[in-house]
Amino acid sequence: MKLAVILLSVLLIVIVGALAFAVYKIVSMKKAASMSLDVDEMTGLLNRDGFMREGKLLLSHIHSHADGEAAMIVFDVDKLRLINTLFGTESGDNVVCAFADALREIAGKGDVVGRVDTDDFALLTKLHGRNADMIAESFAKVLSEKIQNDKLHEQVNYFAGICRYDGADDIYTLFNKANLCLLTHGENQRVSEFTADMESRMVENEIMRSEMLDALDNGQFELYYQPKVSFKTGEMMGVEALIRWHHPVKGFIPPCDFIPLAEQFGIITKIDEWGLMTACRQGKAWHDAGLRDIKISVNMSQAQFVRTDVYSTVVHALAETGFEPSCLEIEVTETMAMTDVEHTVAVLNRIHELGVLISMDDFGTGYSSLASLKTIPFDVLKIDRSLVCDVNDNDTSRRITSAIVAMGKALKMIVLAEGVETDEQSKLLTDLGCDLAQGYYYSKPRPADDIAKILTSPSQFDMAI
Ligand code: C2E
Ligand code: CA
Ligand code: CA
Repeated sequence: MKLAVILLSVLLIVIVGALAFAVYKIVSMKKAASMSLDVDEMTGLLNRDGFMREGKLLLSHIHSHADGEAAMIVFDVDKLRLINTLFGTESGDNVVCAFADALREIAGKGDVVGRVDTDDFALLTKLHGRNADMIAESFAKVLSEKIQNDKLHEQVNYFAGICRYDGADDIYTLFNKANLCLLTHGENQRVSEFTADMESRMVENEIMRSEMLDALDNGQFELYYQPKVSFKTGEMMGVEALIRWHHPVKGFIPPCDFIPLAEQFGIITKIDEWGLMTACRQGKAWHDAGLRDIKISVNMSQAQFVRTDVYSTVVHALAETGFEPSCLEIEVTETMAMTDVEHTVAVLNRIHELGVLISMDDFGTGYSSLASLKTIPFDVLKIDRSLVCDVNDNDTSRRITSAIVAMGKALKMIVLAEGVETDEQSKLLTDLGCDLAQGYYYSKPRPADDIAKILTSPSQFDMAI
């Protein structure tokens, strides 16, 4: 009997032990599976879920042990898509891995590093007396060493947003605040640190952003058209499409107040696509109504070239509306033409091959790149208003304008003077050999119906002069 009890007890212990082992195995397998799901395959870093999980643990450790200062730093790899396009995806992958390696190298013991999105990394780090700039500086140095290829080196850039841990924020808030810096940083500011006013600015910007999206859906944008006039004949040769926003509450908002924000929010591509389609549709309607084959020029932002397939957008707009390619003109600025040169040149050449004209806008304000004049098939050179406005009074402006006209002519381009406001300017620019004029002296930008009236009865245009 005694033996039977002992045997039963041993059996019970074995069964319980086996059960406990099985449960332990299942739990650890599950944990291992979830851990491997939380790792980014390419870099071996934690992915977003893994980063948040480990970050949460580190924050609670710092909080409960009052364990020194810490900060969240997020890194946004700039133009990764462009790097993939220009150098191939293998190079893009190498850049991503270089970022991961550099972050591993600057991270201290116990810090958490993750690849939280395709082109975003995050580091939750104990500061150990370092400030944000010191960390950013050492990252820049290590990253630079990791990218060997000179051409690639030129293209690789990033923005970093930093938020110090104040002991109160949870991991998600801290991460969002660091990300906010990426959205609000200045154009030439590579590293920016979170400040409280960023949040209020962010709220205002968020309202503006959603209002702009509403404006697109609800038809609050309208294109006005400004005539381009032949200096010689006074005839309207074309128009430039310029966007106007009729806000239901704030009233009229000029483009200079919302285009830069639209660029910052990434909405500009939607706006420009709308503008291109609307202008092509309008041009086709004018042509169908028997009006002359007037040319329409459309402004294109840099983002359109960097972030979208602008060639396909143009092809689509032409096909959808049936507008004549030779009547469409795309305006790009010289600064744009100098950024991401190879890509921009290739795209502009393809668009030009469709028969679409390309014009260089605001010439004389940026670098006045002669190299881009050589590689981009510009048909029209638009001399900026800042030169035209004092061409009669300032000898230097006159000489520069004269040199630009000579250069444009030598390169067989049509030369247009922007912002012509007076009779004196008009006369002098005619003498200097400019072909076309655009400016208030001839006409302000006008609604489409006004342009139709000018087209049907050119004498109406004389009244506007
Ligand atoms: P821009 O492309 O250089 O366009 C010419 C600007 O000069 C227009 O301002 C036009 O109204 C103004 N202008 C024309 N003649 C005169 C003149 O004689 N005197 C003065 N003082 N100004 C004159 P607007 O329409 O306010 O547009 C400002 C800028 O906004 C444009 O400069 C362009 O860069 C941008 N923009 C306008 N529409 C669009 C658009 O649909 N897409 C994009 N990406 N940008 C646009
Ligand atoms: Ca323009
Ligand atoms: Ca311009």
